[in-house]
Amino acid sequence: MLERGQVANSWRRERWDSFRLLTPNWQSRLPGHRYDGPDPDGYMTMAEVTAFIEGFAARSGAPVRTGADVTSVRRAGDGYQVTTGGGEFRCRTVVIASGACNVPVVPPFAGAVPASVEQLTPFGYRGPAQLPDGGVLVVGASATGVQLAAELRRSGRPVTLSVGEHVRLPRTYRGRDVLWWMDASGVWDQRYDEIDDLTRARRLPSPQLIGTAERTTLDLNALTAMGVELVGRLAAVRDGRALFSGGLRNVFSLADLKMERLLDTFDAWAREHGRDDEAGPPERFAPTRAPERARLQLDLRGGEIRTIVWATGFRPDYGWLDVPVVDEKGRLRHEGGVVDSPGLYALGLPVLRRRRSTFIHGIESDAREVIDHLAGVALAGRPDA
Ligand SMILES: Cc1cc2nc3c(=O)[nH]c(=O)nc-3n(C[C@H](O)[C@H](O)[C@H](O)COP(=O)(O)OP(=O)(O)OC[C@H]3O[C@@H](n4cnc5c(N)ncnc54)[C@H](O)[C@@H]3O)c2cc1C
Repeated sequence: MLERGQVANSWRRERWDSFRLLTPNWQSRLPGHRYDGPDPDGYMTMAEVTAFIEGFAARSGAPVRTGADVTSVRRAGDGYQVTTGGGEFRCRTVVIASGACNVPVVPPFAGAVPASVEQLTPFGYRGPAQLPDGGVLVVGASATGVQLAAELRRSGRPVTLSVGEHVRLPRTYRGRDVLWWMDASGVWDQRYDEIDDLTRARRLPSPQLIGTAERTTLDLNALTAMGVELVGRLAAVRDGRALFSGGLRNVFSLADLKMERLLDTFDAWAREHGRDDEAGPPERFAPTRAPERARLQLDLRGGEIRTIVWATGFRPDYGWLDVPVVDEKGRLRHEGGVVDSPGLYALGLPVLRRRRSTFIHGIESDAREVIDHLAGVALAGRPDA
C-alpha cells in the first residue's frame, strides 16, 4: 500500500479545524474495527477520525509505505510499472484507492474575481480567524458550504450563500439520526446496477448535514434564521460583478420535494417492517423559505465582500495515471470498480457499487466484491489453476 503522506492523510491535511464527521460514531466501521466509545450517537472530530483510521491500520497489519508519492502508473507487459518518489515497482494488479476528493473544484470564472477579494477553498480554510474582517460569499450549499457559512456567520461576519442544486435533510427524523434511516431502510445499500440514472447518482451533491452534540439541523431555513443571505447559483463573474441565477424558489421546491419523497420511503419501510413503534410519529418539515427578493448580482469591487469561499465540490486527481482510462470529464471509466484495463481496479468512488461507497462504512462490502473479482482473475490466470 503506497501512501504519499501519512495514514489518514486526507483527514489530517484537507479538513478545517472545527471539522466533525457528518456520519454518527456507530456508523464508523471498517472490517473488524468499529467505534466502541461512550458516545455512539456523536460525531468524530478530525483527531478522532485520524486515530480511528490509524487504529485500523495497526490492527489490520496493512503493509503501508508512507511518504510514497505515486507519480506514474503505466502498462508494462502483462502488468503495471509504478513509479514513486522513492523507487519503482512492477505488479500484475493495481487497486486505485487514491480518493474521490483530491482537489477542490473551482469554476473557471474565479479568475475574473477582482484581486481585492481573497479566495479560499475548503482545503485552504482552517477557521474564521484566518479571513479578513468583512463580508464573505460562500459558493455552494452542500455539506461543506452550509457548515462553513454557519461558522463564518457565527464569527460575526456578514455571509452570503450562493445556492445551486442541493440535498436537504433533517439531522434527525422521528427521533433517530437521519442516517440511521438511510442505513436501516436499505437506501444506502442500493446497488449501482439497480440505479436508473447512475451518472446522476454519482454526481449527487453531499447532503446538508452537520455533526454537533445537539444534533442540530443545518438546512437553509436554519441559515436564514442565523442571518445568512441566500442568493442563487453563481453563474458568472463579469466586470467585477458576481451574477447569480434566479429561480431560487424552484430550486428550493425541488430539494423539499426530494426530501419529502425520501421521508416517505423511510415511513413506508417502517410500516412494512413493523418498526413503526420504535420511532416517533412521522414528521414533515416547513418548506424552505425563499428570500422576498434574492439579489441577482453583487459588486465584488465595492468592499462588501472581502472573501469568497469556493465550496463547489471536489474531484479526484489522476494526473499520475498514465493509462487511458480517464474520460474527458476526468472520471475513471470502470464497471463497479473493475477499470477498463486488465488488472486495474478502483475503490472509494461515488456509488462505486452502492450508494454508500464513498463513506467510511461503505468500503467493506465494495472491497470484498472488488477483491473477489481480482482474486478470481488472478487464479484463472495461473497456469496451475
Ligand atoms: C469534506 C469531506 C467530508 C466528509 N465527511 C465524511 C463523513 O462524515 N463520513 C464519511 O464516512 N465520509 C466522509 N467523507 C468521505 C471520505 O472522504 C471518505 O469516507 C473516506 O475518506 C474515503 O477514504 P479513501 O481512502 O477512499 O479516500 P481518502 O481518504 O481520500 O484517501 C486517499 C489516500 O490516497 C492518497 N493518495 C492520493 N493520491 C496519491 C498518490 N498519487 N500517491 C500516493 N498516495 C496518494 C492520499 O494521500 C490519501 O491518503 C467526507 C469527504 C470530504 C471531502
